[in-house]
Amino acid sequence: MLHPKLLLKSATLMSVALLFCFSGCERRQDPGTPNVLLITLDTVRADYLGCYGNPEVLTPNIDRLAAEGANFLNNVAPSQCTNPAHASIFTGLYLAFHGVYDNQTPLAEEAVTLAEILRQRGYRTLAGVSARHLNTENANFTQGFDEFLECEPVEMTAGERNRDFLKKLRKVSGRSFFAWVHYYDPHGDYAPPAPYDTLYPVGENYKPIPGKEVMDLSEDKKNGLVDPDEIIPLYKGEISYLDHQIGALLKLLVDLKIEEQTLVILVADHGESMTEKEIYFCHAGLYNQVTHVPLIMRFPGKISPGSEFAGLTSSVDILPTALEFLGYKMSHSRIDGRSLVPALTDPDYQPHEFVIVEAVDGIIGGLYQAGYKYIKPYGDEWSVTEDHLFRPFLDYAEAEDLKYAEEERTRRMESFLDSWLEEAKKKSLPSIRRENLDKKTEEALKSLGYIK
Ligand SMILES: [Zn+2]
Repeated sequence: MLHPKLLLKSATLMSVALLFCFSGCERRQDPGTPNVLLITLDTVRADYLGCYGNPEVLTPNIDRLAAEGANFLNNVAPSQCTNPAHASIFTGLYLAFHGVYDNQTPLAEEAVTLAEILRQRGYRTLAGVSARHLNTENANFTQGFDEFLECEPVEMTAGERNRDFLKKLRKVSGRSFFAWVHYYDPHGDYAPPAPYDTLYPVGENYKPIPGKEVMDLSEDKKNGLVDPDEIIPLYKGEISYLDHQIGALLKLLVDLKIEEQTLVILVADHGESMTEKEIYFCHAGLYNQVTHVPLIMRFPGKISPGSEFAGLTSSVDILPTALEFLGYKMSHSRIDGRSLVPALTDPDYQPHEFVIVEAVDGIIGGLYQAGYKYIKPYGDEWSVTEDHLFRPFLDYAEAEDLKYAEEERTRRMESFLDSWLEEAKKKSLPSIRRENLDKKTEEALKSLGYIK
């Protein structure tokens, strides 16, 4: 497999661009060329959204988007860590190939991103992020964007982000655009603004537990006892607040009369563990609550309203899917993602023989294959202390570990995962681990609990 690492950036971009063209390659944009709006939600697990079956959490705007488009029911996050998961969304590559394993390592310049491909095709490109570790210095997702609204100070609410992002979006909408907005609200510490802070009643299901350093809660909340019955409603409140702000963003498309010609893609980078597997209020581990994330696409005229696809997908599929929707077909040889366009007309379509997930620093690896999920710690990891075999979409709580009952399958999947990771890492892009962070970034990452 020829990997972009072997090519100079410009040559890579050119060859990738050629790869995506199958017709009208010389053509610059025609009027009416579709727009792409990519919305990434931090820390939103699929099962906390109405359109993924949650009976309680109010997400009318996201639900409407799903009802008007397609809902990918079994979508897997490439990682439980923000920057690695976003790097996968932008490159269509798993972590082992793009090399971003934490929130401090900028994506290699050699990477070819969706923004770069579309800018080269004449799209105007705009981005806005809501957490400092997605800023240029830490993430380098800036490549390919004409304008990149960084996050100041450490994090921003969706309301704060929308204030300038919507203005900028209005400006770029005169021409075909690719716009990406990242919202951070549901990430801990959960502190939604009124009235979302009291929208959901305090529960009566749990006993308070001792606070722990790994919880993404403020110092005062995790000092002493933490009551899940009080915390969970706040997480739900954050999601409903975020949904409200997404409503404002989507309304702008209507106001600008570009709703019909805009492909909207909504995805979460990873989920969140509330209490499951005794992992409280963080996104450690690779269990369903952090790996099963929403993926919704709406494209009027191209996607039938109310479409659902139950096959296994990964967020690495976003890049090739968006490109095919825009008319660029790509070879499958260079990236891990697969176009999901065929899934919209063929419920039996299988985009992947297998899907890979990896945790921060590669400390846990996971393989989805033939309805099974195998996860394994690589080193000493508190959230996954031994390997497991689950059927994640039949046994959503992953309560039944099948590793002894199906020992042969377990060993086969382990061996596959081990060798896949080993081979992939040999071909990884040359990522730059940031050993010496500047003071400001270090403080920010500390305050968010990413570094000690
Ligand atoms: Zn995140």
